[in-house]
Amino acid sequence: MALARTRGGAAPLNSPEILLTDATAAALTPAFADQLVRWQKSHGRHSLPWQNTRDPYRVWLSEIMLQQTQVATVQDYYTRFLQRFPTVAELAAAPPDEVLGLWSGLGYYSRARNLHSCAQDVVRLHGGQFPQTAALLQTLPGIGPSTAAAIASFCYSERVAILDGNVRRVLTRLTAFSGDLSSIAQERTLRDMATELLPRRKLREDMPRYTQGIMDLGATICTSRQPSCPLCPVQKLCLGLASGAPERFPVKTRKLRRSALSLSLLWAQRSDGAVWLERRPATGIWGGLYCFPVFGTEDELLAALPAALQGQLQAVPPFVHVLTHKDLRLSPMRLILPSRPAKALRLSGDGAWFGRGDWTVLGLPAPIRKLLSE
Ligand code: SF4
Repeated sequence: MALARTRGGAAPLNSPEILLTDATAAALTPAFADQLVRWQKSHGRHSLPWQNTRDPYRVWLSEIMLQQTQVATVQDYYTRFLQRFPTVAELAAAPPDEVLGLWSGLGYYSRARNLHSCAQDVVRLHGGQFPQTAALLQTLPGIGPSTAAAIASFCYSERVAILDGNVRRVLTRLTAFSGDLSSIAQERTLRDMATELLPRRKLREDMPRYTQGIMDLGATICTSRQPSCPLCPVQKLCLGLASGAPERFPVKTRKLRRSALSLSLLWAQRSDGAVWLERRPATGIWGGLYCFPVFGTEDELLAALPAALQGQLQAVPPFVHVLTHKDLRLSPMRLILPSRPAKALRLSGDGAWFGRGDWTVLGLPAPIRKLLSE
C-alpha cells in the first residue's frame, strides 16, 4: 500500500485518514529507515545476550520470553534455558515438566507449552531447521506475525515489519496515526504503513538493524508516558511531536477490562516438609503447572477435607496476585500433617506429595513458589 496522503498540511487529529502530507511522506519513506539504522549503530542496544547472532533458535527463544516480560527479567531465564537446552533438538526432547519448571516464574505459561510444541514441530516437520520466511514461521505453534517478522528480519534479513506494542507506539506517533487500533481495518492499515517504511536497500545489513532500532527506540526513548523527544533520532520527522501531544498516540478506544477472582488454596504440608501439589488442567489459570489444590470458596475447601482435619487449618493472610487482565485474591489455608498422613487425607485430583528437592524443579505458579520459599 502506498502511504495515504493529504495535500497542504496535516489533517485534523480526528481524521480517519493517516495524516501525512505529500512532503512528509516523501521524506519519511527513505529518511526514517536511514536515520533509525544510523542511530541504532551508534546509540542502540548491542549487548543483550540474544543480540549479535543470526541463530534462529536463540532469536526465537528470546522473542517468546520477551512477550509481556521485561528485558531484565528475561536475561537470567534466557541464559539458564540455553545452558540446559543448547539446541532446538535438546529442547524438543526434554520432558514437558522440565520445560515448565525452568519457565516457572516467567508467567504466561501457555508460552512455555507452545515453546515446547514448536521445538518438537521444528524437529519433526522441518528436520531441526527453523523455516526461513515469516509466512512459514507463522505456521509453528506460538509464533504470531510479529515474532515471525522478528526472526525473519533478524536471521534472514527478510523485508517484513514487526508490530509489537513498542513499535505501534513509535509508528503511530511518528505519523500522527489517528485511526483507532481497536479496529482490525486500522490495525491492518498501520501494518501496511509499517511495511512501507522498511529499508529498501542493503537489506542484509539494514533489516536486522532497523528491526532492532525500532524496538530500541520504543523501549528507551519513545516510551509510553513521557517520550524523550529531545533525544529522539527522528524528532524532525515526527508528526506526533509536531502536533504538540505525541502521548495521544496510539489511539485505542476499547480497553480490556480487568476482572478479579477469589480463590482458596489448600497448603497441605507434612512435618517432613513435603507438600501436596496437583497438576492444573491444561487450559485456564496456571494451566499445566503444579499447584496447591484450588477451590472457589473456603466452604468448598472445607468440604474437601475430613471433619477431623478441618479444625487444624490455619489461615494464612490473604494477598492479591496481579495477572495482566485479572487480579487474583488468594486465601491460603495451611494444614500441617504428620509425615505419614495418607489415610487421614483424601485429596482429589492429579496430585502427590513432593519433597523440597522435588518441588523446587517443578513448574509452579509464582505465588505458590513464593509461599513455599518463605
Ligand atoms: Fe516518539 Fe518523540 Fe521520537 Fe516522536 S519525537 S518518535 S514522539 S520520541
